[in-house]
Amino acid sequence: MSEFVLPPPGTPAVAVEGGGRFPVHRIYCVGLNYLDHIREFGRDPAASPPVFFMKPADAVVANGAPIPYPPRTTNFHYEIELVVAIGRGGARIEPAAALGHVFGYAAGNDLTRRDLQKAAKDRGNPWDIGKGFDHSAPVAAIRPASRGHVSRGRIWLAVNGERRQESDLGQMIFGVPHLIAELSTLYTLQPGDLVFTGTPSGVGPLKPGDRIEGGIEGLEVLTNTIVEPE
Ligand code: MN
Repeated sequence: MSEFVLPPPGTPAVAVEGGGRFPVHRIYCVGLNYLDHIREFGRDPAASPPVFFMKPADAVVANGAPIPYPPRTTNFHYEIELVVAIGRGGARIEPAAALGHVFGYAAGNDLTRRDLQKAAKDRGNPWDIGKGFDHSAPVAAIRPASRGHVSRGRIWLAVNGERRQESDLGQMIFGVPHLIAELSTLYTLQPGDLVFTGTPSGVGPLKPGDRIEGGIEGLEVLTNTIVEPE
């Protein structure tokens, strides 16, 4: 067979509790999945159903790693989210069967260039540059679903020790089975896919030097520090 003309890129991965690494295939995200978060943007939940978007797989950042303040933004936001790791692929998955496709769960942060996202929304353009940039997807260790599924529990985020987000997973509009079912009508899910499930209210800006801690009941706490731009 012909050889690669460049060294092939490595496989992005996320740590797994108890050992091993989860190889990342794609990162799917859902927006507008908590009622309180929709209202904080002044939108009507009934007129704003959840939306899907993506981040590149190599946007993942390990727990504890520094995150450089990204370019071309002056309004860089945190969004704490439950992340679902897919272990078994499939298309047109029924909600009742969806949890059988889950490898595990983790706390993640859907880092966002809010000014670029807003400009894109206002112009009817794609969200990519506001959401899918380098270092935009920190994820803590994945807890295998063999230790239990996650559907309720506290979700929170603090910046420099001050609480900024606080809600419960039970506030999600689309729960995990519904999200997997819906997403699998749009894409064939593959082992290695991550699904960010949306953030509650309280999103806000970050600056270099900020220490972010975010957690979900029962899962490893995600901690990252924002550093000066690269
Ligand atoms: Mn989000």
